[in-house]
Formats: sequence, C-alpha cells, structure tokens
Amino acid sequence: MKRRQFISTTIAAGGLVLSPSFRLFSLSQVYTRNQLIGKGNPDLRGESYLTTMHKDTAIALQKMRGAASQEGIELEIVSAYRSFQRQKEIFERKYRDFRSKGIEPEKAIEKIIEYSTIPGTSRHHWGTDLDLIDGNAPRPKNVLQAANFHGQGPFCKMKEWMNAHAKEFGFYEVYTDEPTRKGFKYEPWHFSYAPVSVPMLKEYASLDVKAILSEEKVLGNEYFSDAFIKKYRAENIFDINPLLK
Ligand SMILES: [Zn+2]
Repeated sequence: MKRRQFISTTIAAGGLVLSPSFRLFSLSQVYTRNQLIGKGNPDLRGESYLTTMHKDTAIALQKMRGAASQEGIELEIVSAYRSFQRQKEIFERKYRDFRSKGIEPEKAIEKIIEYSTIPGTSRHHWGTDLDLIDGNAPRPKNVLQAANFHGQGPFCKMKEWMNAHAKEFGFYEVYTDEPTRKGFKYEPWHFSYAPVSVPMLKEYASLDVKAILSEEKVLGNEYFSDAFIKKYRAENIFDINPLLK
C-alpha cells in the first residue's frame, strides 16, 4: 500500500472533508526526538516486551491474528517494543565484551551491528515493529533463523500466509531478501505496521544520530565517525522494503 492510500483511508475513516493544506497539517503527526529513539511515547500500550506496542499496531495485530487463526496459524510475538535503555544495555554489554578481548573500538562496533542495532536507531523503538513466529508450529531452539521460514521450516505456513495477507492489515516485511538491499540481513520474521512507521521514518530522517549517541553517552560514541554514521543511516536505517518508505 502506498502512503497516499493510507492518507485517503484515514480521511475516509474519519469522515472528514478537508482542504488540501489543512489536510496535510492535520494528518502529519509530529513525533518528538524521544518518541523516535525509544525514550517514551504516550501512544504505547502493554505490560511487557512481548505485549508493549503502539496502540494502532495493537488494534491491527488483533485483526490480523484473528484472520490467521482461521487458517490454524497463531501469530506469536518474540519481540515488540524495545526501549532506548534496553538497546543501550545490549549494545554496551557487547561493546565491553569485544573490547575486553582486545578488539579495537571501530572493529567492535562493526561486529556488534552485524546482529544488533545501535541504541536510538532500532525500529523496535517505535512500537510499530514486531518479530513474529507461529505459536502453533514446533519450536526450534533458535526461532529467529531464516531457514525456519522457508523450505521445510516450521514457520513456512505462517510465512506464506503473511506474504499473501499481512498487507491487508498494514503490515510489511522490513528487511527483505532483495539481493541488492544492503544493511541488516534478511529477517523473514520482522514486520512493521506501515500506517505509523512510514511517517515515523520520514520524521526520523531529520534526526542527528551522531549527536544523539553523544548526548545519551552511549559507550564508544567517540568512535562513531561521520563516514560510519552516514553509511549506517543509508544502509541499515533507510535501505529497507521500498513499501515502507
Ligand atoms: Zn525485529
């Protein structure tokens, strides 16, 4: 679904007739720096890391779950909202670990981002993105492996259903297996609720990631060079499924 369609859907749902200029003003929600980096968002609902998400994501997920369950699929969350603080802890633990093994700071950062995001840059900070598996399928030891979602993998049925139907509920895969895509590796389990995450990403583009890492005193922040941040932004943050931009 394209952004234009979300906007017209929103207007239709609200039954509003607005002039074009007012329409833009009224529908472009302003997200604060803190909302965009996982430091508080009044629209979040939920009790734990498995249930906390943006209120609109929760409503859409409930509908999608209902439809999936009719096909014998139980959409189970492995990860939903993650705060800045939580991501900072994960990042800094890994950073200390690599440094204690004598790995140079820049190299340590490169190694961390093979599998983890830098705090302040995770889409899980927004409450719009979910890691999903099929709770009705046999559970392998490591659930978030691409092989589980293809071939004879236990989550194939869910993956096929999501490929066909997730968009009907506003959810899209983020890190696709498109061979020319750079940044994070293919994640067949990671879906984003586009009606909220598309405007958030648009707003995110104006943030100064390097300044944030410094302001928030993220360990190793002095080693994030301008060139590194530029590449990370272009590849890890913005080189995603084009339907989410
Ligand atoms: Zn994820």
